[in-house]
Amino acid sequence: MKKLVIASNNSGKLREFQAMLAPLGIEVLTQAQLGISEAEEPHCTFVENALAKARHVSKASGLPALADDSGICVAALGGAPGVYSARYAGDNPKSDARNNEKLLQVMQGVADRRAHYYCVLVLVHHADDPQPLIAEGEWHGEIAHEERGAGGFGYDPMFWLPEQGRMSSELTHDEKTLLSHRGKAMRILLQKLKLE
Ligand code: IMP
Repeated sequence: MKKLVIASNNSGKLREFQAMLAPLGIEVLTQAQLGISEAEEPHCTFVENALAKARHVSKASGLPALADDSGICVAALGGAPGVYSARYAGDNPKSDARNNEKLLQVMQGVADRRAHYYCVLVLVHHADDPQPLIAEGEWHGEIAHEERGAGGFGYDPMFWLPEQGRMSSELTHDEKTLLSHRGKAMRILLQKLKLE
């Protein structure tokens, strides 16, 4: 594989992917560079949404495509916001700041702060690929009582890591890749790619 299109317009995710794929000698393009529209994400499972995004971008570009669908699942909220994490506070426009504000508010007075990030990666070699490569990762932590730290993106300023004694927004880029749901899923995916 010489070229791969990342099926995402999320700048936080793009930075993480580009860093992880750079050493492989694969030219990484983004869907925005190719002028490809955002795919619909109508499904209630992460894997279906990731497959829809990867297929859409591969069809439009004629190239292999890698999509991620991810989110934060809060135990006390029965797994919400889950697949709706990016648009928890509405999608016109999507806003990390408003999502975080809403989650902090909803969690006020809630004692059980357990939460995990989930990520599924889907790589299609072509739009109708019957054997997409699929890899998953989880990252467990807690929802903090206030926001802190400037790194990462999305819910990172309120994702508390008891073992690190820090928020995920306070990790370096490399530390986040080592621990995160996306980093874990990516290492599994790269292993599968090497076996092809
Ligand atoms: P998607 O682009 O539809 O997969 O939405 C992913 C959403 O989940 C993001 O917009 C964030 O709100 C959240 N999310 C996923 N991964 C992370 C992460 O590593 N840090 C912070 N938030 C994340």
